Amino acid sequence: MSQRSERTRIRNHPERAVPDESAEILAQGQVAHVGFISGGQPFVVPMAYHFDPLSPDVLYLHGAVRSRAIEQLAEGQPVCVTVTLTDGLVYSRKAMNHSMNYRSVMVFGHGKLIEDADRKFEIFDQMVQRYFPGREIGQDYNPPPPEDLGITALVEVAIDEWSGKARRGPPTGPDDDKSGALGSAGVIDING
Ligand SMILES: Cc1cc2nc3c(=O)[nH]c(=O)nc-3n(C[C@H](O)[C@H](O)[C@H](O)COP(=O)(O)OP(=O)(O)OC[C@H]3O[C@@H](n4cnc5c(N)ncnc54)[C@H](O)[C@@H]3O)c2cc1C
Repeated sequence: MSQRSERTRIRNHPERAVPDESAEILAQGQVAHVGFISGGQPFVVPMAYHFDPLSPDVLYLHGAVRSRAIEQLAEGQPVCVTVTLTDGLVYSRKAMNHSMNYRSVMVFGHGKLIEDADRKFEIFDQMVQRYFPGREIGQDYNPPPPEDLGITALVEVAIDEWSGKARRGPPTGPDDDKSGALGSAGVIDING
């Protein structure tokens, strides 16, 4: 999976394209912003998700059976999923060069409902493991009863293509490496 079409060609700062990091970013991320169009109105809904780099052609979303996002995805409507990792706040001596260090992925795909109860059980367990490594079903929490699996929809998004983009490093203002110049410049490490 990598950049494939004009849709996923990074036009602004193409040198920041990191298609080979896309799977790693999806594996590390916690919140997916899920974009779709319903009745002509664009929606972007924050959601949890599951992604396994060993199966990089799909990701999983879940929610109440009647939620708008799930309804759209279950119909196979096109979906755009964005995941962002914020790494640093970049401050510059020049207003325009304030920025952020980030890694992000934009995924384009189509959803389909997973209705098989055993498959749902398996993916939900893997999803819990992704967010809470080492958390064991049957030991740390109870297996979900069939009625809970029934009211919670699971959607598999087949990934048609993706793009990855990252900004790294210091500010790039013209005076940012001049220690005697007015102001200050640097990077605040968000995860530090
Ligand atoms: C970090 C995070 C993780 C989440 N994970 C999941 C998940 O895995 N599955 C899931 O189904 N839901 C998740 N949610 C909730 C999700 O964002 C929606 O609120 C939910 O799907 C609403 O569904 P709905 O069909 O009832 O609302 P909709 O009919 O989609 O929304 C109706 C209106 O409510 C408002 N609205 C809905 N959601 C939000 C919101 N999050 N913030 C502000 N306004 C909102 C909007 O104005 C929207 O037009 C998560 C939210 C957050 C912040």
